[in-house]
Amino acid sequence: MRIGMHVKIGEGYAAAVQRAQASGCDAIQVFSSNPRSYRVGKIDRVGLLEFAGLRRAAGLDPCVIHTPYLINLASDDPKIALGSLRLLEHDLAVAAAGEMRLVNTHLGSYGTRDRSEGFAAIVRALEAVLDAIDPGVVLVLENSAGAGNLAGGTLEELGRFLRAVDHPQLGVCLDTAHAWAAGYAIDSSDGVAVFLEQADREIGLERVRLFHFNDTEVALGGARDRHWHIGEGRIGFEGFRALLAHPQLRDKTAILETPGDDADDRRNLSAIRTIARGAAA
Ligand SMILES: [Zn+2]
Ligand SMILES: [Zn+2]
Repeated sequence: MRIGMHVKIGEGYAAAVQRAQASGCDAIQVFSSNPRSYRVGKIDRVGLLEFAGLRRAAGLDPCVIHTPYLINLASDDPKIALGSLRLLEHDLAVAAAGEMRLVNTHLGSYGTRDRSEGFAAIVRALEAVLDAIDPGVVLVLENSAGAGNLAGGTLEELGRFLRAVDHPQLGVCLDTAHAWAAGYAIDSSDGVAVFLEQADREIGLERVRLFHFNDTEVALGGARDRHWHIGEGRIGFEGFRALLAHPQLRDKTAILETPGDDADDRRNLSAIRTIARGAAA
């Protein structure tokens, strides 16, 4: 698998590329702007092409944009729904301008809204952005930790979105910490086999374009979104070993979103590399 990590771009693109390279990444994930604001900035086409050039030189591919956390495509508040749509459109446009192949988004929460109405609202929003998507970009929907009324907490529901929207540039990202929190016991090779069989049945593994590899200390099914260091949580070495050993995941990309500083990043990357080498042996 290609392994990368989420990197901050606050100090500029060159520093982000350098950081990813120094930690030994093959791939990279970034926010396009402040992940907690509805404001969208102007698209800096020159800067984005420079970023693409730096990534090429560093062998970082793919580059994933993670959309802001504020996005809620299921909201019945027109302001939030429209703001979310704008943010998603903006990140898809940034991806197209910056030669980034993947845009990863959370779907949001149904809140107190009727689930089927919320589902239909998400489908409409996805159809609208996919109508205008650049041919080089794929939008991936990330599984949620399943808390409260979050959309996309199960493989079945993600599959229903793909079937309802039916667009070849729509895929899925599976976050291991969220899957665990939603009740998928991926801490053993049997558990991973069951999870991936179900993912194949509901989604199709070819449409799982991305993984987020995060360990977690949350209890199985705890429905809380807490990321932890690779191999030091409940998923552990065995869970990641089974994922890395799976023949159908060999060409996929996994992005780490583990906590901590540069030293933690290097430790997590080196842990996942060690597990990968063990899985290949
Ligand atoms: Zn995410
Ligand atoms: Zn998370």
